[in-house]
Amino acid sequence: MAQYAEVWVNVITDAVDRPFHYRIPESLSGKVQEGALVKVPFGGQKVWGCVGGLLVSPGVSGEKIKDIFAVDDDKAGLNQEMISLARWLSERYYCRFMEAVNLMLPPGYGKVREKKEKYVMLTSLAESKSVSFWQELRQKAPRQAQVMDSLLNKNPAPWLEISRWTGADSRVLNQLVSKGLVEVEERISEKMSWLEDYVSRGDSLFEESISLTAGQQEAVSEITSAISGKERETYLLHGVTGSGKTEVYLRSIEYCLQEGRKALILVPEIALTPQMVAYITRRLSGRVVLLHSSLPLRERYQQWLRVKEGKCPVVLGTRSAVFAPLENTGLIIVDEEQENSYKQEESPRYHARDVAEWRAAYHSAVMVWGSATPMVESYFRSESKEIKRIDMLHRATEYSLPPVEVVDMRREMRRGRKSIFSRQLVERVEEVLRQGEQALLFINRRGFSSFVLCRECGHVVRCPFCSVSLTFHYHSGSMVCHYCYYTADPPEMCPGCSGIYIKYFGTGTQRVEKEMQKLFPECSVLRMDRDTTSRKGAHRRIWNDFRSGKAQIMIGTQMVAKGMDFPGVTLVGVIAADTALHLPDFRASEKTFQLLTQVSGRAGRGSKKGTVVVQTYHPEHYSIACARDHDYFSFYREEIKVREELMYPPFTEMLRMVLLSEEENEGWEGILEISKGLRSGPLGVEMLGPAPAPLFKIKGFYRYHLILKGKSLDNISDRVREVTRSFRLSKRGKKSRLIVDFNPAVML
Ligand code: ADP
Ligand code: ZN
Repeated sequence: MAQYAEVWVNVITDAVDRPFHYRIPESLSGKVQEGALVKVPFGGQKVWGCVGGLLVSPGVSGEKIKDIFAVDDDKAGLNQEMISLARWLSERYYCRFMEAVNLMLPPGYGKVREKKEKYVMLTSLAESKSVSFWQELRQKAPRQAQVMDSLLNKNPAPWLEISRWTGADSRVLNQLVSKGLVEVEERISEKMSWLEDYVSRGDSLFEESISLTAGQQEAVSEITSAISGKERETYLLHGVTGSGKTEVYLRSIEYCLQEGRKALILVPEIALTPQMVAYITRRLSGRVVLLHSSLPLRERYQQWLRVKEGKCPVVLGTRSAVFAPLENTGLIIVDEEQENSYKQEESPRYHARDVAEWRAAYHSAVMVWGSATPMVESYFRSESKEIKRIDMLHRATEYSLPPVEVVDMRREMRRGRKSIFSRQLVERVEEVLRQGEQALLFINRRGFSSFVLCRECGHVVRCPFCSVSLTFHYHSGSMVCHYCYYTADPPEMCPGCSGIYIKYFGTGTQRVEKEMQKLFPECSVLRMDRDTTSRKGAHRRIWNDFRSGKAQIMIGTQMVAKGMDFPGVTLVGVIAADTALHLPDFRASEKTFQLLTQVSGRAGRGSKKGTVVVQTYHPEHYSIACARDHDYFSFYREEIKVREELMYPPFTEMLRMVLLSEEENEGWEGILEISKGLRSGPLGVEMLGPAPAPLFKIKGFYRYHLILKGKSLDNISDRVREVTRSFRLSKRGKKSRLIVDFNPAVML
């Protein structure tokens, strides 16, 4: 009989990243299991921890060993799958074991207690009583009778509600209970979220009876036969925008449920894909739980609990939902698998798609990765037959993909046209307005576009803390840093050359809005970006306004690029296609191609034909040319060549170490120390750097980085761990922050 336990305490530092031994007191014997959450004394405090294993004898001398105080409720504890997953995560993503455990706990663990409500219901005895019994009760105990009457209307009902209606107090309730007429149960009240709105709109979009296209049919039959064969299979569902991937997901989920298994659907961001979320929740009504971080904590906890208790067979959620306590999972869908939001940008720096892959293997589940523009890495895996691919290269509706017109802005400039809108774009907008249709104007990442520039020397005003260019805001007349919110007035003279031709260059959403409004004063223009959607519900309001046709033009950032379906839109304009093309990141071409494809997918989704106008200074670049031709494969062929030549993923694994320091010199010394530590033996992989990170300073921290890349990083991983640990525990390490990022999504 095990009398001791290994406990990982919830103290997240490198010094404590190992289990400690505790005695299991007699009162808890049998209750302390692997994965259980326990309260233990640690360094004079009471902390909670996770039981990593049971021991027959203590590993340390008997007198020092302390007792476990208590075991937490068993719902929160980790099962076997989660314990193994936590181990895998801590190894692959170089995080501490307890950081991984924390991902799997109920939302708000240790912060909220589940709040139960008292429900009252009729017993079978009450239901068997005759009319005369009730008449007698009414005369002798009118209050009790009233309670019974209200229960006839609603059974079971929350006691709070009944007592408010009838004025009965708990004494009345107790009498009814002792007569055996009612039962009381503690329940967690179940409340649906803001999504109800979307779901109840009753759009024709929710048709259940649509007949599948040939492409959909084929996809569904492949996926469902893999589910029925309980095959461990991964499908890359490469479907152009509008090919009807949602319907494929739904039919596959429905099939999976019929087979008695459960399903998990991951989406990049709920707010960006309200339509698909509405569609799915509506079709699977009552059987789907929504898990994402913008729900109130209490609600998230209730949802989580429903999954844990096996009350709900489908989970739909964002990144962290990949840890939903589902059992017997048959299908895992990752929609828009190329999205960066699947990668967590804080420790543990996991990628939800990779975690999903691990869980699918554990459950022998089928995986479906959906995308119109798959990640080059994923497509490569399908090309090399490691995973299967299903192509849906035609739209589900009868409308073909819109033609894309590329406008060379250099020529516009040479012709003396300095406006941010080319002649072609303006003409197209005029046409749309004349026809009473809608236009969507898209601007890349605002932080990189509307910078303050000196036209004489080219000096760009940058944030003193973050080294990114400041964005000019018309509204307040000031410049803002979009990393740290540093704000300043624009200079009257150029700090570089003292010139006076300071120009707010480029294209922020506000600038485009203003210029559009000037060109078309009679037309109403909506803007959707982080500024206009920061208030609660604003996103939904703008979305609804545009969809219902209250405005003819909408201007937005990548927020509008993804997932939205506006049937009235016949024109999509991309103001500056190349703002993302020159970022110092090896995925810049890929990101540009993805964005252009996504925005052009917004045009012509309704019954009218759409057009896309792309303005660029680099019309010959393959990202832009292939996006124009809706040609993913050619893009892939070009891009994969570059990746192979430069030995980037998928040909290598990558690991990035970033050191953040408040002092420039300390940071540089620190990263040198780390690189020396890594080189203490033969590396066997390539090391880039150390060097200053492209975003050299963020929020007052200097950033230096180095990159390891090689066919496999397995052989170096122990050394990375060692170097990381000893650096973090060193004097210099304690003053700075070292980030270890395996297969980073962003390299800035
Ligand atoms: P994707 O996610 O692949 O871009 P969606 O799933 O959003 O595409 O579907 C695009 C549009 O096509 C939606 O309006 C949807 O209602 C419609 N659609 C899907 N399948 C069919 C079908 N079999 N027949 C007709 N319309 C369909
Ligand atoms: Zn800043």
